[in-house]
Order: sequence, then C-alpha cells, then structure tokens
Amino acid sequence: MSRRYFIAGNWKMNKTAAEAKALIAEINALVGAETAVDVAVCPTFTALDAASQALKGSNVKLGAQNMYFEKSGAFTGEISADMLKEFGTEYVILGHSERREYFKECDCLINKKVKAVLANGMKPILCVGETLEQREGGKTIDVVSEQTVGGLKDVSKEDAEKVVVAYEPVWAIGTGKTATPEMAQEVHAEIRKVLAKLFGADTAEKIQILYGGSMKPENADALLKEKDIDGGLIGGAALKADSFAALVKSAKKLA
Ligand code: PEP
Repeated sequence: MSRRYFIAGNWKMNKTAAEAKALIAEINALVGAETAVDVAVCPTFTALDAASQALKGSNVKLGAQNMYFEKSGAFTGEISADMLKEFGTEYVILGHSERREYFKECDCLINKKVKAVLANGMKPILCVGETLEQREGGKTIDVVSEQTVGGLKDVSKEDAEKVVVAYEPVWAIGTGKTATPEMAQEVHAEIRKVLAKLFGADTAEKIQILYGGSMKPENADALLKEKDIDGGLIGGAALKADSFAALVKSAKKLA
C-alpha cells in the first residue's frame, strides 16, 4: 500500500500535564523510534507544553483535540492556531462526535476549522460517523458522505493531501462494540469515493482514512488488513502505553 499507516491517540479529557509527561516517556520507550508507521498523541490543551517537551527527539508527533478558526480576539475559552503551533502541534482532531453531540458543532463550523488548520500548516483529522439510529435506518453512507463533503468544502486539491479522515461510528466509541472489518471497509471505501469525487482519484488514494471506535490490540490486525483502513484513531486503548504500542506494532507488521 502506498499510504502510510497512522496510529493516533485521542486522550480526550484525560491526563494532567504531569501524567502526560509520564505516559509519553513510556510511549517513547516502546515506539519513539518508529519510522515505518506515523504515530501521534493528542493530549488536552493544558498538557501540550509538557507533551511537546517530552516528545523532543521522538518520532511520535503531537496533535490537539480542537481549535477555533479565528486568529485571535474575544472568543472566551477558545484556542487559536498560533497557540497550538507554539508547541509544535502537527495534527488537530476536528468534528469528533463528542464535539458534534455535546457542543453542537455542525459541518459548517467544522469546515471553517478544517480550513484554518490547513491555512496554518497543520493537518486536520476530520472525524465522521453515524449514530446507531442512523445505521439502523440505513443512512450510514448518506450521513458519512454529507459530513465528509461538508467538512472539506472549499478545500483545495493540494491541501486535501494533508487531510486525514477518521471514520468513527458513534455507536462504537467507548462502548466496546467495534464495527466488523467488513462493515468498516465498506464505509471507508465509500469515503474514498467521495474524496475522489471532490479531489480526483489520485488525491483520494493518498488520503489516510483511519478507523476509530473501540479499536484495541485484539481487533486491530483484522481491521488494519482491510484495503481502505489506513490506521486508527484510538481513545481508551491510547491511555496505556502498552496497548497503544501494541496497535503501532500491528500496523508495522502490515506496513
Ligand atoms: C475516539 O473517541 O476517538 C475513540 C475511538 O474512542 P474509543 O477508542 O475509546 O472507542
């Protein structure tokens, strides 16, 4: 496969700065020298400084979990691109289902954030995924396609190569329920078709599409073997160095 595997840890609202430093030290010891697979950790904003220092000399990259699209100003509680870049942040998770659900983020807002991340030389990890109700109603492909098109509206072909898409079925996040490899592959292939329509087949072939939703060492091999699954966005299993490193190793076996 020409695309590199990518394993990214979404730490959500977990780990203080001191805990982040300790976890990164363990991750570095296990996979800090990894070159065959892209690896990133996405701690909370308050741990970015400590994390960036702990990642010096490591091949593990730094990501954030959100960003506001404006450059600066009266946006109480928000974080700008410059603030993230100060710590060497390379990736920003956007449109996670928890932000869509609890913070009412819509495709239109997510799209502004995607474009701001790209304009600032970082890479967005755009999350898309259906709820259980939408899956049971046969709407999975429509929902995921609409979120992909909406999130990437007005993104240039050149910038599209820097985008990472994460397919995260909402019903599989933090629930222990995983989409079967076949179910995930079907959606990943559809997402790649949407990307091909938006940016052309060549560009679509270059875009990493990650699976997220209770991915763990026990189910990773089967998921990662699928043609259009290029890695994982990992929640729970990213909070322990040994399980996170095991996922990186699963990807490395196939790289
Ligand atoms: C996530 O929220 O991005 C995620 C995939 O979580 P988990 O692995 O815990 O299901």
